[in-house]
Amino acid sequence: MSQENHVCPTCGREYTGNFCPQCGQSSKVGRYSFMNAFLLFIDVWGLGNRSMFRSIRDLFLRPGYMIRDYLRGMQMAYFPPFKMLFLICALSLLIETGLNIKGINRYQQYMEAEKEYTEKKQAEAMADNTISETRRDISIATYKMLYTLEDKIRQNPQLMVLAYMLLFSGPLYILFRHSPAIPDLRFSECFVAVVYIANMLLICIIIPSLLCFSFKAEAIFDTLVMLLAIVPIKQLSGYSYPSTIWRILLAFIPFAIIVLAIYLAIFILSYILALPNPYGNIIISQ
Ligand SMILES: [Zn+2]
Repeated sequence: MSQENHVCPTCGREYTGNFCPQCGQSSKVGRYSFMNAFLLFIDVWGLGNRSMFRSIRDLFLRPGYMIRDYLRGMQMAYFPPFKMLFLICALSLLIETGLNIKGINRYQQYMEAEKEYTEKKQAEAMADNTISETRRDISIATYKMLYTLEDKIRQNPQLMVLAYMLLFSGPLYILFRHSPAIPDLRFSECFVAVVYIANMLLICIIIPSLLCFSFKAEAIFDTLVMLLAIVPIKQLSGYSYPSTIWRILLAFIPFAIIVLAIYLAIFILSYILALPNPYGNIIISQ
């Protein structure tokens, strides 16, 4: 610890030590240099901060215990969960759009494949004379809605992940709030835990994007990765594996019902809105 006297340039307080006790500014702040600028730049990515490496390491070695430590107050030791989520999402978007081993825009490729599939299915529905015109319109509108939804989801991954997590935190909280390790879990704490777990899963699903797996292999990989969520929930709650698993499965039921209800509402709304022209902006060749 530095014994020199300092005057804090930000708030004007005189003090001895390495940090201003009033505003927390470091006593080592001097004139601006390229080194400072570089450190600030890598700090945006959490790399100037040792807590990022520690958080990622602990998220894989002892995720549930790490989350419990964080909730109990070890906040300086770990990277903040929401900041981490946004950085991981930004990084996945970079990887998805070109920063992968083949240097290809996988997002664009994926959406082109989806568009082709949608148009094929719409053309099939158009050509089908055995069904009524109304059913044909509904079928065409359904494919259009699914395509639009897929596009929106791929464009806003962090918002989607956050929305899903908020929805899933509810039932998870109800089933885990009186668990052996944390008998008085709060909803806000449950949500923070879910965000950390999502970070862990999102880091895993960067792998298939980075290595350019086929879309089918990627879907299988991503689904299997979701099973990893059992480990942190088990460690965090202190339940046995069987107790943890049935609780997670039970929490999935209301979650799935709410998600389906939202999708159905979007579908009905988009169908009503698309009525004058059910084919919308997806042009069917022929
Ligand atoms: Zn100060």
